[in-house]
Amino acid sequence: MTKTKNSASKSSASKKEGWKIIHLYGTAFERGVKYGEISKSDLDEALQIIEVYCKNTVGKSWKHFVDLAATKYMPNVRDAYPEIYDEIRGIAAGSGRTVEEIIAWNGYISLISPADLLRCSAFIATGNYTSDGNIVMAHNTHDLYITEQNQNYIVYMYPTEGYSFVIQSFPGGVWSMSDFFVSSSGIVGTETTIAGHNARENPGGHPIFCRIRHCIQFCGTVEEYIARLSDNNGGDYACSWLLGNVDDGEIAKIELGSTEISVERKNNGYFVGANQVEDRWIREKETAGNLSESVVSRKARLEELMEKHAGAINHTVAKKIIADHYDMKKGRVNPGPNSICKHSELGGGKELKGAVDGKVCTGESAKRLGIWARWGSSCGTPFSVNKTKRRRHYPAWQTRFLKDRPGKKWIFVCSQV
Ligand SMILES: [Zn+2]
Repeated sequence: MTKTKNSASKSSASKKEGWKIIHLYGTAFERGVKYGEISKSDLDEALQIIEVYCKNTVGKSWKHFVDLAATKYMPNVRDAYPEIYDEIRGIAAGSGRTVEEIIAWNGYISLISPADLLRCSAFIATGNYTSDGNIVMAHNTHDLYITEQNQNYIVYMYPTEGYSFVIQSFPGGVWSMSDFFVSSSGIVGTETTIAGHNARENPGGHPIFCRIRHCIQFCGTVEEYIARLSDNNGGDYACSWLLGNVDDGEIAKIELGSTEISVERKNNGYFVGANQVEDRWIREKETAGNLSESVVSRKARLEELMEKHAGAINHTVAKKIIADHYDMKKGRVNPGPNSICKHSELGGGKELKGAVDGKVCTGESAKRLGIWARWGSSCGTPFSVNKTKRRRHYPAWQTRFLKDRPGKKWIFVCSQV
């Protein structure tokens, strides 16, 4: 366990290529206050959007979910995760929000439980599949553009307790949510959600944002991650977690359902994530069973590219793979809902959704908590709200707060210590 003796006054924020890069030091409460102050205006805007999102997707007010979080999550967060709770108290103090609201905001994906989450493409490769034999990991985030456009935070935390780490995050986020992280423990991780999951909840279980955040800060082995993710499983966020230990090059896939868990580990090879579940028990007991065209296409393409680049996968190749536009169903390059770099708006879908970013890390970069990141879309194609609205009509709530995402470059960011 590493300890960092740094005062909160060293905390800082800067902007680069569409990202907001934040470094937070100090005790949990001190870090939280700084974080709340830094993210206040973005958080105000994000909460305005979530209010509209709640009304238009599940027909309930944001206040309904804040009240729900207060009874459903607050006691567990306070009692079982004091570090996270103190940080949340700080964020609330720094941003002028209530503790209940910050808890609801961090847990909204669990609280709202959308019917079908197709949220990402990802892979992790190691051993004889990578150029240097160590781990290469990549991920992009898919969802409605209106809710994903605030995922442009890269947050470094240097806690006084536990491991330092970096997460892609959002204003006031104590976890990643899009789920891409590198910890100074040597563990790197990402995930894709399990499509068609029945979203069965386990009463009294702990929300995913606490379980995974605790792992990143306090767990140093894959075994500890498995235990922490499955103990007190709230059943609130079925995912296929892809983890790697850059100290020994081992990678693992943890398919985490509501009640079932399946683990596979290897030192040579890869795992891909395209919102599929491969474990038979989880698929039969907890999902609708059928896989969408997008899942089938992205999974097949990721596997094809892993084999094509076997032995040569490095951060440069990873950036190309995560920005790939090949549609396996159509048998040609066709950016749309079926491509790894998703652009659903180009495929005639009714929802404005797709990839809003790209992230890559390697065993080497992870030693400095270093990641490559591109904001906007993984391929760098600009997104224009007006152009998109002219092409097709979308519900006003999906476009009212929507921002253009000009094409951006990949950047590299790393630890300050
Ligand atoms: Zn693209």
